Amino acid sequence: MICLFGGTFDPVHHGHLHAARTVCDALRLNEIRMLLSARPGHRAEPGASVEHRWRMLVLACAEDPRLVPDDTEVQRARRLGRPSYAVETLEALRVEAPDAVVCWVLGSDAYRQLETWHRWREMFELANLVVLRRPGTPLQLPAELERITTERRCRDVPREPAGRVLVLDAPMKAISATEVRRILASAGAAAEARIADLLPPAVYTYITKYHLYGVVSDA
Ligand code: ATP
Repeated sequence: MICLFGGTFDPVHHGHLHAARTVCDALRLNEIRMLLSARPGHRAEPGASVEHRWRMLVLACAEDPRLVPDDTEVQRARRLGRPSYAVETLEALRVEAPDAVVCWVLGSDAYRQLETWHRWREMFELANLVVLRRPGTPLQLPAELERITTERRCRDVPREPAGRVLVLDAPMKAISATEVRRILASAGAAAEARIADLLPPAVYTYITKYHLYGVVSDA
């Protein structure tokens, strides 16, 4: 099975890492690809540069050999000079692995907005979708997505190459990058204590070193 967990990771935090490890356990995976989005078509411009976000992702993934940082989308966006889309990543993957079981992992907040994604219906032709229940974002779906989800829902690890929706019930952490950025920007030196539960130490050290997200002092 090939499993992709895409995100802007701005910055990568314990919510992402815990989610990725939970998916590895639930789907019995040796590896999950942590796929960095360069300039996602459906999102506002993120806070740190793609180079910084990539280096933080590499540092965070060093904690667990199952977490593999993947810059495929960043490279494609550079080549194309335009946003790269999830559906294109999956199409490229299908050229290499036409018959593989592929899973695309996303949180309930992202899944609720799937209809805003480029060629979103084709996502179901190219991959299984694994949805994580994020605290604060219940799985209330717009009508068409609700119907598709009901039709395609499975209860166990998908065995088909694509087309199923697995909603994992495992509890997720109530952490968002928005909250992390807010704390970093506002808490100054006090951020360190508050941030320990939210970020791996190596990522926090990196943020202070490069003064990202409005962190002005590394003292
Ligand atoms: P932001 O607050 O800037 O929107 P974010 O914390 O949602 O960022 P992203 O990089 O946008 O992080 O998320 C990438 C993917 O990870 C999305 O599918 C998102 O739903 C999921 N995700 C983010 N945080 C969590 C979490 N705490 N638990 C489970 N999934 C998460």
